Amino acid sequence: MKENFKTTIGLEIHIELKTKTKMFCDCKNADAKTPNQYVCPICLGHPGTLPVPNKLAIKYAIMLGLALDCEIPQESKFDRKHYFYPDLPKNYQISQYDMPFAIAGSLKIKDQNSKIKTIRITRVHLEEDAGKLIHPDGASYSLVDYNRGGVPLIETVTEPDLESPAQAKTFLQDLRLIVRYLGISDADMEKGHLRCDANISVQRGVETTPIFEIKNMNSFRAVERALAYEAERLRNNFEELKTQIGKRTLTWVGTQNKTQEMRSKEEAADYRYFPEPDIPMFYPHKMFDLKKIQKELPEMPEARLTILKTKYNLSDNEAFALLVRPKWYNYFQKVCLNVSPKIVADFMVNENLGVSLDVKDLKKLVLFLVKKKTTRSFIKQVVLPGLKKGKKIDDLLKLTDSTIDLDKIVQKIVRENKGAVNNYQKGKDSALQFLVGQVMRDTRGQAQAEEVAKKLKKILK
Ligand SMILES: [Zn+2]
Repeated sequence: MKENFKTTIGLEIHIELKTKTKMFCDCKNADAKTPNQYVCPICLGHPGTLPVPNKLAIKYAIMLGLALDCEIPQESKFDRKHYFYPDLPKNYQISQYDMPFAIAGSLKIKDQNSKIKTIRITRVHLEEDAGKLIHPDGASYSLVDYNRGGVPLIETVTEPDLESPAQAKTFLQDLRLIVRYLGISDADMEKGHLRCDANISVQRGVETTPIFEIKNMNSFRAVERALAYEAERLRNNFEELKTQIGKRTLTWVGTQNKTQEMRSKEEAADYRYFPEPDIPMFYPHKMFDLKKIQKELPEMPEARLTILKTKYNLSDNEAFALLVRPKWYNYFQKVCLNVSPKIVADFMVNENLGVSLDVKDLKKLVLFLVKKKTTRSFIKQVVLPGLKKGKKIDDLLKLTDSTIDLDKIVQKIVRENKGAVNNYQKGKDSALQFLVGQVMRDTRGQAQAEEVAKKLKKILK
């Protein structure tokens, strides 16, 4: 019975843009030290003020639209969306209703079985964020902080093409990666830069449950868990729910692992949308050089993965580490010019260096290694700890080789390890490995293992 059910999920994702100023005023868009630090008459909705749209935020919306293969319509406009809530001082939010900046796009994701699935993007539009309500513990009042009020927010809406909670999570993770690649948001879910609402319904043949909207999922895991919970609830109550109509809104209560009904869902008519009279129409194709924007878009995750794996020959683990961290990727690109990319990635990922070293320093280390002027273990044991203590790289690299007399150390190890020497001469190869290890230890890793082995074999012949 269960296998006859189909789950249908659509997402609405809000992402705070990383502009210097807010959407319609020149208040700072930044982490504030105190509540209501970055506010002005415009974002507080005082009468008589006029909004001035942030051109960079519009460019960001178009960049995301293009990255998601959307069409950019010739004309676009802002609208007022009316609702009363104390975090919204104007009693309306400037948003976009029927003429968003981007429409009809798509994003390909890999589903659980590594099959490519295309998720259609309905629209990408811009709006302003609301303030934040704070409810002090035990107090009979609430406080409101308008620092976030008026921050540019980009909303991406998908068609109901997602068929499982896991797919929804993958889509979100991919979208986050894209906005990070574009550099338009840090998209940190824990900090509220990225917020997701989901619409879910369950079908059996031609019968369907109503759509349930789930809010307040604050992490990727919460999205997956909330949707899994809700899909099961809808399947279990299908007979009763299939007779009901009207969209409902739920909130995800993570601490109790369940959804809870909030209120009946407002429909567009409830918001009394009308065109924002204080902002004129936009003509994006005239306002921007769209071809140039398209050309300047960074390559998307799929393309980046191919570059890392085929051009640079990195392992899955190394490629993934660079793929999910745009900063690492850019740093990697800078360091690996003219030096060995494989070694660079190895240091960054496997030695946990990340982007902590100066580009020039890491380049120098890798070149020293490639030219066999130093060894990996010397770098590991001497150079990296030295750099951590603030020593200069050139001084540290000077220590390489110049301070050791390899022949002397080899002779010393041979003298001190008669047993191993005997064993080797009787034909035991592991004894040679032991002796090499002893030499390496004494040179603090400065010698090349092959060279040590060669010298040993020569002496012990
Ligand atoms: Zn302001």
